[in-house]
Amino acid sequence: MSCDNKQAAEFSTTNGVCPIGELTGTRNLAEAKIPVLSCEGACIRGEIARLAANCITREPGFARGCHGELITVPQSAIAQWIKQSKKVVLIDGCFLRCHGRILENLIDADRLVQFDALSHYNRYTDIFDYDDVPEEERREVARSVADWVLNSLENPCSQGATACGQAAAQGGSCGQAPGQGAGCCG
Ligand code: SF4
Repeated sequence: MSCDNKQAAEFSTTNGVCPIGELTGTRNLAEAKIPVLSCEGACIRGEIARLAANCITREPGFARGCHGELITVPQSAIAQWIKQSKKVVLIDGCFLRCHGRILENLIDADRLVQFDALSHYNRYTDIFDYDDVPEEERREVARSVADWVLNSLENPCSQGATACGQAAAQGGSCGQAPGQGAGCCG
């Protein structure tokens, strides 16, 4: 069995346009908003990453990025905004870094700041469904992840996220093998 370092996924192209996406991407580019993306995984880890990304985009200077348009509608305003931004923040749900491993092939490493949310809160590893964790608790954990990300962005030397991007740029240790626990930026 082969083990390729890189694999490609094909997708069908579209001539479609999302009107509100075009307005939002154009505005965010003009206002130099920092795109914030999450892995959007279906489990509790993906849900916490998604909620944390939403929390961060309530702060001035940030806006929510859409990975779907970035990857599969590359001519869209949302994709162009993300590709032209000086910094892109990505919160993956866990050490598998499903989106980090895609985006680091689309966005320069020195512009992509990656976080592994699970390495911060380190809970729920025996839970899959997000609603097995009460909503209030999910929101508290996500808020904690958001605060950690914001603090790391303000103090790049504090806890690893920027160092993670630098490590990736150097072909380094950011992408740990699955099962190594803390994973990227841990
Ligand atoms: S990074 Fe983790 S939580 Fe996110 S999609 Fe991948 S396996 Fe799911």
